[in-house]
Amino acid sequence: MGIHDEDLQRVKVESDLAGIVSQYVALRKVGQRFSGLCPFHNEKTPSFSVNAEEGFFYCFGCQKSGDAITFVREIEHLDFVGAVEWLANRMGISLRYTDASDGTARKERQELSELLEKAAEFYHQTLRTGKGAGKARSYLRSRGFDSETVEQFRIGYAPDQWDALASHLNVPTEKLEAAGLGRPGPRGGPIDFFRDRVMFPVADANGVVVGFGGRMMPDGQQPKYKNTAKTRLYDKSKVLYGLHWAKKQIVAEDEIIVCEGYTDVIGCFRAGLDRAVATCGTALTDDHVKTMVRFAKRIVIAFDADGAGKAAADRFYEWEDRHNAEVFVAAIPDGADPGQLAEENPEALQEAIRSAEPFLSYRINRVLDRSDLNRAEGRARAAADTGAIIAEHPNEVVRDQYLVETAQKVRVDIEQMRRLIVKPAPTPNRAPVPQRGDQEHDEPSQTAPPRETPQVEVNLLRALVHDPAIVKPLALQAMFADPVAIEAFQLVTTDGWRDRMGDCSETVTALIARLLVEEVTGDPVELVSRALDALIGRWNTELRYDVNDIEQLRQHQPIVQWLAQRQEEMHSDETRSAAVEAVVDWLRNQETTDQSS
Ligand SMILES: [Zn+2]
Repeated sequence: MGIHDEDLQRVKVESDLAGIVSQYVALRKVGQRFSGLCPFHNEKTPSFSVNAEEGFFYCFGCQKSGDAITFVREIEHLDFVGAVEWLANRMGISLRYTDASDGTARKERQELSELLEKAAEFYHQTLRTGKGAGKARSYLRSRGFDSETVEQFRIGYAPDQWDALASHLNVPTEKLEAAGLGRPGPRGGPIDFFRDRVMFPVADANGVVVGFGGRMMPDGQQPKYKNTAKTRLYDKSKVLYGLHWAKKQIVAEDEIIVCEGYTDVIGCFRAGLDRAVATCGTALTDDHVKTMVRFAKRIVIAFDADGAGKAAADRFYEWEDRHNAEVFVAAIPDGADPGQLAEENPEALQEAIRSAEPFLSYRINRVLDRSDLNRAEGRARAAADTGAIIAEHPNEVVRDQYLVETAQKVRVDIEQMRRLIVKPAPTPNRAPVPQRGDQEHDEPSQTAPPRETPQVEVNLLRALVHDPAIVKPLALQAMFADPVAIEAFQLVTTDGWRDRMGDCSETVTALIARLLVEEVTGDPVELVSRALDALIGRWNTELRYDVNDIEQLRQHQPIVQWLAQRQEEMHSDETRSAAVEAVVDWLRNQETTDQSS
């Protein structure tokens, strides 16, 4: 589905990865590779490496890896088709789409966004110079929005008329409706969806306008905020206002500030916090979080998250677990919002963001602030209330840490406190859903760290990738014990494997991308011999566990001795090659015997 395979291959082959990367970071040639500062994480010494010939990159710092398409997807935050289109456009390749309807759908979306773009411009120009927009201009000025802010955020005004936009755009009513800009009026002609409102254009992550938020004028008609209804381009449960302006800073700081309203985002920007986004008239959803973690792990909630209580807590913990996010809460003073605070006291807003706390600690502190810890009753109440909050956290280690800390603060015996936070039995639907890439991301640090592929196996794989002519005839799956290495081995010994990397797990793809940007050090045959060394060692150990009696061990004695001699020979340069071949042959025979038995 999507792009014609021939065109896709052409894009893949003709993409100049080093050239593309150079648009974002300076690359320096080191040996056969290019190296530079990683565009995906903050660093001072370069750990980002590009194999231009193979068209693969790998970062030794954050382990991001892939080909040109992956790079463009990640850096421009596009989907697969979007990234291919981005590359094709750059190389002057015109793409053909496999499914005609797919091409039509894209064309329709294109039309809608052109319409929305024209509407954004119309609203904006109306606010700047329109005759009927005087009251909107003075209202915005009274709220502290200068003309610079109006320009920067492309704020507009929808005139107080039935069809000002509709007659300006002059397109069929269905088109206006599809774009969420109008609907059929009582007399047949189209009428505007937004009237007499201050308009905030909402764009996707790439800056393409997808919808609008309209704020009522002080004397205007309720509701206070009106948002574009769901259209082909606009889905409020997915879109984040301000993301395209903020994304660069979000990535640079690895932090995203989430507000509730358009003016909050603008306020944050004006207070120098240019990494803020807002949901558009909806609570934070799983899809929002999924989008946010693509840009930053640390999510700072800049609205009253405590009010939503346990329901919010459950969701936050689930997101932290499922999306590997860290949810923090900024202590915005009661009754204030970031927009207001930015206007009245920008330093206070900056401080609230700076001192944001993990959600659990934020909630505990809210209880403690309200409690009278000078009286025994107050302390008992605080212990019970904080205990209930701590109990909601799904992670036992986290619960325990907070328990110890909080028990001290409320001056309650730790064991007594512990009884208050007995975790209720987990509900079945909270079971974690296994996802691709789980082994990399979803393990909290409290559990065992992911197992590393042994160096000897990594070295052999690297030699296999770079010197297949020499190494492939000598390499066997038996030389690998690590499951990731085995999957990687199976891939790189398949013909045309470079095109099939996408079928593998992310861990394997990342491993291979890393190998592609690394140099082989040492003689490939020697690397094979080290893997054989390790294999023989494993084989000997297993043998000792497997055999039950001396008689059985005696039967195996000749081969144990024969292998020991070959091991000895592999340690010397003159005899290594022959010994490696002998052991590999023996292993091959073992494999066929195993299969036939
Ligand atoms: Zn990196």
